[in-house]
Amino acid sequence: MAKDKTSWRKPIKATKEMGRIMAEYFYELNDASKSRRRKIAWCTSVGPAEILRAMGFLVHFPENHGAMLGASRMATDMIPVANARGYSPDICSYLTADVGAYLKGVTPLSKAYPGIDEVPKPDVLVFNTNQCRDVQDWFAWYAKEFGVPIVGIHTHRGIVDVTEVHVPSIAGQMEALIPPLEEISGHKFDMQELKRVVGLSRKCSDLWQEVLFTAASVPSPLTFFDGTIHMGPAVVLRGTQQAIDYYELLLAELKERIANGVAAVEGERFRLYWEGMPVWGRLSAHAKLFSGLRANVLASTYCNSWIFKDFDPDDPFMSMAKAYTELFIVRADDAKEKYIEEMLEFFKVDGIIYHDAKTCPYNTNCRYGMPQRLEQKTGIPSLIINGDLNDLRMISDEQTQTNVEAFIEQLEERK
Ligand code: SF4
Repeated sequence: MAKDKTSWRKPIKATKEMGRIMAEYFYELNDASKSRRRKIAWCTSVGPAEILRAMGFLVHFPENHGAMLGASRMATDMIPVANARGYSPDICSYLTADVGAYLKGVTPLSKAYPGIDEVPKPDVLVFNTNQCRDVQDWFAWYAKEFGVPIVGIHTHRGIVDVTEVHVPSIAGQMEALIPPLEEISGHKFDMQELKRVVGLSRKCSDLWQEVLFTAASVPSPLTFFDGTIHMGPAVVLRGTQQAIDYYELLLAELKERIANGVAAVEGERFRLYWEGMPVWGRLSAHAKLFSGLRANVLASTYCNSWIFKDFDPDDPFMSMAKAYTELFIVRADDAKEKYIEEMLEFFKVDGIIYHDAKTCPYNTNCRYGMPQRLEQKTGIPSLIINGDLNDLRMISDEQTQTNVEAFIEQLEERK
């Protein structure tokens, strides 16, 4: 099938508003860091952000910074700087890019937001190992560097069913964070405030799910590549009214597209599911590659990871413990496969793209026979792309292009 070099991806109007609220978020953090008027917590992307906000902290997410380093294509030059400090090129390239950038004294924030010349300084670092072990090592490095406390939650991993064995123990660890955080923040813990914040997070999560699920329409009004950009507020602003207002705006635009039959990829012919991390430095190249073949990569496990349907403001600790443990990345292959099967059916998917990300085994699910098992069960074919989230030395653009084109040919023959 001849590749059309034009991108047929339709831009989203709400992006401008997202840019505005993200700028507000980063400038607020920067002002607090400079003036020291507000306490700042660093938090892992699926860490207990609600507790931190409820206790008055502004929250910085180093993984978001890692993704910015990737998207701005600065990461590949930063990684060797961390490697030289003994952090292997084989471990998380968010970690190595982020630590490398810190050591070099650079940040992509400077380009995006004039006047910001460094990441905000933390008063405390808070992790949850639900996603991987790397986050603990990453935060431990900064705890030493800044001489600030580190606290965290240790989550069970590889869980088939989340049960009473898991949830109370995680909830207990969350509650145990309160006394040290009270001391650092100088704020007394207020249960009503936590309930309010968990309620806002739940609303944000419900709207984010609605946004992502619009992609079930034929044609889809949304692509995975849009999702990776528009998930910003769900990651860094969940628990705030701004995130809710933003997703209401975005959802209205996508519903309008559906009502008018407007496709995100004009002439959508193939519907694909992305399993694994995005390749941040190739977002736009990949969007063009697929849309040029009239294929819409329209849904993913990755963007769905910020849907927390168990948040319940009436029972904040137990419900947060459940929500942050129910996540796909925490689960065993049986549970993961069941989830993907449901998503393939819901989004009416023709094929799956697995990204085998060299430095993130936790978000890579094609190394233990999953593609074969799922194809056997569903009849839906898949393609594995070798690459990385941030380290562009792990990527062969030519090979990706050839393999994707051949995969689309295969889908064409099945039509
Ligand atoms: S899940 Fe993967 S990308 Fe995310 S912090 Fe852990 S190792 Fe890095």
